[in-house]
Amino acid sequence: MSGLQPRAGLHYPRSIGEFQAWFRTDADCLDYLDWLRWPEGFVCPLCGHPGGWVVADGRYKCGACGSRTTVTAGTLFDRRRTPLTVWFTACWMFAAQKDGVSALSLQRSLEIGSYPTAWAMLHRLRSVLVRPGRDRLTGTVEVDETYIGGEEPGLRGGRAKGKKSLVGVAVELKQPRGYGRCRMAILRDGSAASLHPFVTEHVTPGATVITDAWQGYSGISKLGYTHQRRSQRAARARGEDPGELLPGVHRVASLAKRWLLGTHQGSVDDAHLQSYLDEFVFRFNRRGSRSRGLVFYRVLELAVVHDPVRYRDLVVNPRPKRKSPVPPGVAGHPPSIDRPPAARPWRAS
Ligand SMILES: [Zn+2]
Repeated sequence: MSGLQPRAGLHYPRSIGEFQAWFRTDADCLDYLDWLRWPEGFVCPLCGHPGGWVVADGRYKCGACGSRTTVTAGTLFDRRRTPLTVWFTACWMFAAQKDGVSALSLQRSLEIGSYPTAWAMLHRLRSVLVRPGRDRLTGTVEVDETYIGGEEPGLRGGRAKGKKSLVGVAVELKQPRGYGRCRMAILRDGSAASLHPFVTEHVTPGATVITDAWQGYSGISKLGYTHQRRSQRAARARGEDPGELLPGVHRVASLAKRWLLGTHQGSVDDAHLQSYLDEFVFRFNRRGSRSRGLVFYRVLELAVVHDPVRYRDLVVNPRPKRKSPVPPGVAGHPPSIDRPPAARPWRAS
């Protein structure tokens, strides 16, 4: 897979018509997954030996250790109950539709028996999107935080219901204009202890990081970044809109919020917000993809190298594990995007 430049119509379907023609049966889907997982031919997942043969039950038998395995064993599609054709169609809707798909409309369009089944399929697909060791952002990067979720974003202090999550947003700026890739992650709070790791995890050292004047960003120049601070007060003094201080972050955050309210009707529960953000970021970063079919291909490519995801992991142990939410104005950083104008003292935590 690495190094392969996938081509439309050859490596992935370029249209819904081609998709339907390629994947009529579960055997068609298995064949495709086989090619994605072992493009150079079967490699034993147990001993790493390349080479084996297909035995009577359709499984591969390793030529060295003799163990038997299926194409889907140890992947996202391990022990599935839903037919692969349904999985593939779900993946197509998830990846190839501009705004993805909600669990409810997936359930309706595919006539999936239960809502939880459709919901879990989409969450399994979301869980593969963050590739371990993916590249960090480079060049010039805006970084800020915003509150997502809850009843009304931007409410001050005591009126907030405590359902909002503070989300770090980082966006690459292109020259002379436009945006590159973005990252979004739930933050524990707006302290330096949360913001510094957010920056180091998502931005390559050497990059220029633009933030507002919030003290939680103090010291990031010591972490190997060129730090540019933009002061809201100075912007206001110049008669500029302080909310437009960091236009890239502002843009990404408002697109993400609109998507959550649109496709998902705002019904995203707090515990699964990070998964939805992962999906938003994945799609945003591929918005210039020349084919939606290529996005479908990328999702399946990640799914065949991803460990199985158990239903109870999705429900009982939702990602991310995080502390109780911090309403705006109580602790942490009121973000420039939603931030009420009053200045607040910074509290270290
Ligand atoms: Zn083997």
